[in-house]
Amino acid sequence: MPSTYDVINPANESIVETVQLLGLEETDAVIAKAANAFESWKNVAPGERARLLRAFSQIVTDRREELAQIEITNSGHTRGNALWEADNVANTLMYYAAAPERLFGRQIPVPGGIDVTFKEPLGVVGIIVPWNFPMPIAGWGFAPALAAGNTVVLKPAEYTPLSAIRLGELALKAGIPEGVFNVLPGKGSIVGNRFVTHPLVRKVVFTGSTTVGKQIMVGCAEQVKRLTLELGGKSSNIIFADADIAKAAAGAPSAVFDNAGQDCCARSRILVQKSAFDTFMEHFEVAVKKFRVEDPNLATADMGPLISKKQFDVVESFLDEPIAFKGSAPSGPGYWMAPTVLLPKNTQSRSWREEIFGPVVSVMTFEDEAEAIAMANDSEYGLSGSIWTRDVGRALRVSRGIETGALSVNSNSSVRFWTPFGGFKQSGLGRELGPDALDSFTEVKNVFISND
Ligand code: NAD
Repeated sequence: MPSTYDVINPANESIVETVQLLGLEETDAVIAKAANAFESWKNVAPGERARLLRAFSQIVTDRREELAQIEITNSGHTRGNALWEADNVANTLMYYAAAPERLFGRQIPVPGGIDVTFKEPLGVVGIIVPWNFPMPIAGWGFAPALAAGNTVVLKPAEYTPLSAIRLGELALKAGIPEGVFNVLPGKGSIVGNRFVTHPLVRKVVFTGSTTVGKQIMVGCAEQVKRLTLELGGKSSNIIFADADIAKAAAGAPSAVFDNAGQDCCARSRILVQKSAFDTFMEHFEVAVKKFRVEDPNLATADMGPLISKKQFDVVESFLDEPIAFKGSAPSGPGYWMAPTVLLPKNTQSRSWREEIFGPVVSVMTFEDEAEAIAMANDSEYGLSGSIWTRDVGRALRVSRGIETGALSVNSNSSVRFWTPFGGFKQSGLGRELGPDALDSFTEVKNVFISND
C-alpha cells in the first residue's frame, strides 16, 4: 500500500509538499515498464540517443532557476550551491551525450577469423540517492547509464524527493521516451531494497551511508548484481608550513562547512604542520567567523540549515570535545547550527574518527610528511582530501602516499564531471563520472567470426 511523506523545509520546519511513496507492487510495475522500455531504448540509433540527452541537458539549463529553488526549499541549500547543482546535472548530461556515438569496441587479431568486442547495455539500472546532494548524485548515475543504452529507475531519499520528481518530468518534456527514466519516491527498505532483489534490475548504483552500502552489497551478491557504491568519508585537509597559509585558512571553512558539512567529501579533519599551527588558527578563526549562516535564499549565504532534527541531534552529539572557536547561526525554527572547530584530545577521539556530516571540524598537528600521511591514512574511509604546499615534490609524494580516491593540491575541489570520483577502502566501490564510469554501465561482449 502506498503511504505519504510530508516534505519539510529545513530552514523553517514548514511542510512544503506531501509526496506519495510507492509500495512494492507499484515499484514492481515501474521496473517492468523500464525493462520493457529497454527493449527499444537499446536499439535507438546512437546519434538519436545523443540528441535526446542533449535536449534533456538543455531543458535542465532552461529550468535551472526553478530546479535550484526546489532544492533551496526542500534541502536548505544555498542559492549559489543549488544553481551549481542544477548546472552540474546539465553538464553531466552534455558530457555523456558525446558517449553513445563513441562506445567503441575492439577488433582483436586472432587466427582463423576476426574477433570483435561490443559494449552492450546492462538493462534496467537502479539508482539510490542520499539526501545531501539530490540532483548531482542522481545525474552522475543516470547520465552515463542512459548514454550507454540502459533504462533507469531512480529512488530519491525520503527527505529530498522534489528535484528528482521534477527531473523526471523534464526528461519526458525533452523527448526521452516513456519508461526510460523513472523516478520512484519511496522508502529505502521498500523501493531501494526492491532494486536489490528484483531480477530485472541488472545494476545498482548506491550512494549513502557505509552501513546501508554493506547491506546492499550482501543483497546484490545473491544475483551477482553489478554494483557501484559511493559511501562515507572522513577526509583530511593537510596544511604544510611551506604553504600559502592565509589562502589555505581562507578556504578551509568551505572545505568542510559547505552544504552545512553534509558532504561526503567534507574535509572534517584539518592536519596542520606544528610550526604553522598558530598562524593557521589565527587566519582560520577570522574565516570561520566571517562564514555566513543565514536564509539560504539570500545570495550572501555561505551555509543553510541541516536537513533534519535527527541530523541536528547526531551532529550535536559530537560537541562534547574541547571547542577552539565557533561561528554563529540563526536561532530556530529550522535546524540551524553554528560552524564549530574542535581540538580533539588525540586520534582516538570520536570527532577525529567518525563521519560527522555536519558543520564541525577537528584540528590536530603533525611534525613531518611521514606523520601526516600516517594520520590521514588512519581511517576506514578514503574518499577525498586536500594537500597545501608550495613544494611540488612533496605534493607528489604525499598524494601518492594517501589512500584516497579524489585528492586536490592547493585546492578544495573534489568533483569535476570530466574526472573519476569514488572511494578507497570503505568509502566505496567503483568510480562515477569521467570516462571510467561509462564502462561500469556496459558489459563487454566478445564475438568471433570464423573465416571458414
Ligand atoms: P542512507 O544510507 O541512510 O540512505 C541513502 C539512500 O539509501 C536513501 O535513498 C535511502 O532511502 C536508501 N536506503 C536506506 N536503506 C536502504 C535499504 N535497506 N535498501 C536500499 N536502499 C536503502 O544515507 P543518507 O543518510 O541518505 O546519506 C548520508 C550518507 O551518504 C553519508 O554517509 C555520506 O557520506 C554518504 N554519501 C556519500 C557520497 C559519495 O559519493 N561517496 C555522496 C553523498 C553522500
